[in-house]
Amino acid sequence: MTTDHNLHVYNTLTRKKEIFKPSSPPHVGMYVCGPTVYGDGHLGHARPAVTFDLIYRFLQYLGYKVRYVRNITDVGHLENDADEGEDKIAKKARLEQIEPMEIAQRYANSYRENMQALNVLSPSIEPLASGHIPEQIEFLQKIVDAGFAYEVDGSVYFDVEKYSREHPYGILSGRKTEELQSSTRQLDGQDGKRSPMDFALWKKAAPEHIMRWRSPWSDGFPGWHMECSAMGEKYLGETFDIHGGGMDLLFPHHEAEIAQSVAANGKQPVRYWLHNNMITINGQKMGKSLGNFITLNEFFSGNHPTLDQAYDPMVIRFFILQAHYRSTLDFTNEALQAAGKGLTRLLEGHKTLISLKPSGKSHFDAANLGNECLKAMLDDFNSPIAIAHLFDALRFINLVKDGKESIDQETIDKLTTIYNTWMFDILGLKAQEEDNTGTLGKVMQALINIRNIARKNKDFATSDRIRDELAEAGIILKDSKEGTEWKVEVG
Ligand code: ZN
Repeated sequence: MTTDHNLHVYNTLTRKKEIFKPSSPPHVGMYVCGPTVYGDGHLGHARPAVTFDLIYRFLQYLGYKVRYVRNITDVGHLENDADEGEDKIAKKARLEQIEPMEIAQRYANSYRENMQALNVLSPSIEPLASGHIPEQIEFLQKIVDAGFAYEVDGSVYFDVEKYSREHPYGILSGRKTEELQSSTRQLDGQDGKRSPMDFALWKKAAPEHIMRWRSPWSDGFPGWHMECSAMGEKYLGETFDIHGGGMDLLFPHHEAEIAQSVAANGKQPVRYWLHNNMITINGQKMGKSLGNFITLNEFFSGNHPTLDQAYDPMVIRFFILQAHYRSTLDFTNEALQAAGKGLTRLLEGHKTLISLKPSGKSHFDAANLGNECLKAMLDDFNSPIAIAHLFDALRFINLVKDGKESIDQETIDKLTTIYNTWMFDILGLKAQEEDNTGTLGKVMQALINIRNIARKNKDFATSDRIRDELAEAGIILKDSKEGTEWKVEVG
């Protein structure tokens, strides 16, 4: 592929679709806000990860060389700037009697495992906030020097009022400072902020606060918005091409990032802001208090009262890709089961395709299928339309299988390339793991039944031989009162 094409992306900053023109093609800098590692990865983590994985894969398909930076927030920021309280990671560390970085590491590892299960490619750089404290202090100093920050008792705040006299504050979220003034919770005298709109750039740590670093202002820790500004600039420059994240980060996080960069560098940090829409579960927002907070591991195991069954990570991925990233997405058991059936149909169709033998001249326009998929993705990454085209072509493949249409070798080859490229390279799908309901499961059940009959007949030569030969093939049988279980030996 060449980068000579018209990719249209919806830019949250300008509120319209624009032709994507990176500043120095073929290089593209892309920053996506990663997880806060306070706990297990959950469904809310899956959508931005899969969305920007799709975008990352597609940009590479178009010939771009993408430097993809996705940070890990591990310095235990409070979720709300206005809240005074104990650092979350530190609190958990105290309860569990371990080093805070041990907790951050554990959850970061677990997040990476979840991402691997979802077939999300690793970013080019995965910087930790805790590993970039000097960069954050340096960035903060630029804001102080420019006169857009003030210090109160060791904490440093961004002066939104002063900033908004010179630059538009709220350009990304569309919020007006007058509205913010009245809607932001007033916490008089609690933290010494001049205005409730102001946000922390540096917070002085209370004595019990474990995660702390030295700075010109106090022993403390950076405000949450600082890390993305500092790490984005470090790895992608003062202005870079794409900044992504969930819509929930639009305000205050991304709005604050813009203000920080404009204050420090006098220019916009990002050319295209991309935001994925939110997810709901059975029509409700996900929340701990609502009892529908489901971790990814719970989805993969089915171990949650809301779930009817375990869901293969690929079903979750496929379900996310079947909606446009800017649409809302409601997770229900029915919808996931339908997505599972669809995914199976697509994978089976692929298997059928690669088993086809040429049977005569084909009238199917394979090139057009590839063009239609490309056209869909060039229109602001419209994966559901691309998937619909792949489903449409399955009809032809199945007619060939049933002998009702003919196909030539050239068409088989073209179709195979198109399906491989779109299903596996761009959409990032992969064949589902075999389980008890798959072919291997059925074969294993048949073998276990034969072995049980042999044991009943005291034909131990046969029953042992079945066990030993399976062990040779890496499959372990385990007998218990409940019956015989099998598993494929890992490694
Ligand atoms: Zn961020």
